[in-house]
Amino acid sequence: MKFGIDAGGTLIKIVKEENGERAFSKYLSTEVEKVAELLKEYPDAEVALTGGKATYLQSLIPQNAFQSIEFDATFKGIQTFLQQLNHPLENYIFTNVGTGTSIHHVKGEVQVRAGGTGAGGGMIQGLGFLLTGEADYETLTALAAQGDRDDIDLKVKHIYKGDKTPIPGELTAANFGRVLHTKDTVQYTAADKLAAAIGVVGETVTTVSIHAAREFGAEYVVYIGSSFLHNELLQKVVMNYTVLRGFKPFFIENGEYSGALGTLRLM
Ligand code: ATP
Ligand code: MG
Repeated sequence: MKFGIDAGGTLIKIVKEENGERAFSKYLSTEVEKVAELLKEYPDAEVALTGGKATYLQSLIPQNAFQSIEFDATFKGIQTFLQQLNHPLENYIFTNVGTGTSIHHVKGEVQVRAGGTGAGGGMIQGLGFLLTGEADYETLTALAAQGDRDDIDLKVKHIYKGDKTPIPGELTAANFGRVLHTKDTVQYTAADKLAAAIGVVGETVTTVSIHAAREFGAEYVVYIGSSFLHNELLQKVVMNYTVLRGFKPFFIENGEYSGALGTLRLM
């Protein structure tokens, strides 16, 4: 039996392989002791770790685990998934929207980190809590799905008011920038505020990714990370914004397990 484990800032992703079968599971990073207990039940298992909490997890388990650098592991996992999907890419950007966001360029077999932003899943959870007092992830994202950010975000077309716009009128000019224009006539619901928070995260992530894509002449941006789970709104914002800006978004099913799968493949 083999375990590939990506112990991240928020979630621990586990890929278990046995007799050619692959199983995926995840735990909160605060439950790292629980993961260690699970591994103690399989003392003979081969274990490969990665992620910011890998060394701490190693200190809790009996196996002498293989460890790889998170970026190498994630790249290896993405390549493995793309191969299995029959969608090989030669020159692309991948963006891992985890607690924070990390952006990478791939050409052939070479991966380099191209940048990052503090806007990511952690910001959705933290800003979401500040705006609404809601700490439960699935409640938060379900609520956001019902929200509308039209009265909160200022679009280019709002500034130009019917005049010809030099860039697409649907682009956001200022996230949250419409609030002072609408505050006297509009009641913003918790859902609306959350939708706007997800909007600013999605658009920031996309903008930074697209700048990298342009810099490296890449057509595709591959998006992974647990931040897209149960969060169709974030998927939609990122997908539409990537297309609007002239690039091709690509989401990988189970892509949040890229690091876990990749470290297993590198072992
Ligand atoms: P990093 O790579 O930055 O160290 P990570 O690997 O833990 O962090 P991911 O697991 O890719 O990051 O994504 C974490 C994000 O996923 C959270 O910030 C949250 O937005 C989202 N998420 C999805 N499911 C859950 C869940 N059940 N509980 C908490 N957050 C969740
Ligand atoms: Mg991660």
